[in-house]
Amino acid sequence: MDLHEHQSKALFQQYGIPAPMGKVATTPEEAEAIAAEIGGKVVIKAQVLTGGRGKAGGVKVAGTPAEAKEKAAAILGMPIKHLTVHKVLVDPASTIVKEIYLGITNDRKAGKPVLIASSEGGMDIEQVAHEKPEALIREYIDPVYGLQGFQITSVANAMNLPKEHWKAFGVIARGLYACYSASDATLAEINPLIINGDNQLVALDGKVSIDDNALFRHPDLAEQRDLTVEAPAEAEARLADISYVKLGGQIGCMVNGAGLAMTTMDMTQLYGKDKGIGPANFLDIGGGAKADKVAKALNIILSDPNVKSVLINIFGGITRCDEVARGMIEAYNEVKPIVPIVIRLQGTNAKEGREIIQAANIPTLTAAATLTEAAQKAVAAAEGAL
Ligand code: GDP
Ligand code: MN
Repeated sequence: MDLHEHQSKALFQQYGIPAPMGKVATTPEEAEAIAAEIGGKVVIKAQVLTGGRGKAGGVKVAGTPAEAKEKAAAILGMPIKHLTVHKVLVDPASTIVKEIYLGITNDRKAGKPVLIASSEGGMDIEQVAHEKPEALIREYIDPVYGLQGFQITSVANAMNLPKEHWKAFGVIARGLYACYSASDATLAEINPLIINGDNQLVALDGKVSIDDNALFRHPDLAEQRDLTVEAPAEAEARLADISYVKLGGQIGCMVNGAGLAMTTMDMTQLYGKDKGIGPANFLDIGGGAKADKVAKALNIILSDPNVKSVLINIFGGITRCDEVARGMIEAYNEVKPIVPIVIRLQGTNAKEGREIIQAANIPTLTAAATLTEAAQKAVAAAEGAL
């Protein structure tokens, strides 16, 4: 779960990281009132869960409350990378003397958190990594000992940060690591961390991602989830305990198991890519899926208007294929899909499952014995309907 910038910065403050703290507005009038309250220059910032808002025109400085209203009106409703801006943060504006990057994430290969810093802050860190990899400083953190003083000194030195800022930088780096580990975050990032006109280090932007599997330990963070930014189908899936990620293709996929789901997506891509056809979604229905869950998953897949065919790939282990087949027929009668469906059943009671599908005699429902056959049929079906 990603926190918005204003939520991330509020969290940072709890860990002693200085950040401008404005207020959130949903209308231009609210933005005007907040700007009047703050007084002086403000910055209006789109609150959408993506980076690059500045480049997209979602960050604008305003000199007066009237100008704040005007800028907020321009930003609210604006699309940024397919997301619509519903809220803006109105912060007191800062003078920027220097932009630094500071982030902590998990390095899976190293099996440890890694602190990444760069004196080339402000822009996309991926771009810095690509164009100027030597400008990235990495410091691995032993989770038993935490971030050590000598490591912070080493980073500040490698960044050529003037000595007068080392103490403040230490407070921020320690605070960021404390925030990262206490929140079960997978990412805690400040970009840019600035030296402002008063020669102070301040977090101008913030991005915190919390590990979904640890959210139960953080009810205060979990309740900050912004349901308005989630695709409705993704929210519905989450509530039904189905992992669903919408993608751009035409073949809806229903699979049990995350690994098998990815393989299934790869296979549709393999046979479809020359024809411009690919997977419409990732969907893992989980183990022991019963009829109601199959119906729910089918409904979620079909809520995507791009879906031209559906590929169901079930490997029966604990999940019995005859159960899924029965669920499928039930779901079929309930949902009454018009798009063709290809179903591949393998494993426990696969034969019985296929017989149930065949006996149902539904013209748009085809059984396949192998994944290759299923993927080819799903591509052909999507092609026919395109
Ligand atoms: P992002 O583009 O989504 O990462 O949004 P940021 O919050 O990082 O803002 C993008 C850029 O806008 C920053 O790198 C700054 O250059 C600029 N910016 C943001 N806030 C201020 C501010 O208070 N004053 C000034 N002068 N520039 C700002
Ligand atoms: Mn930023």
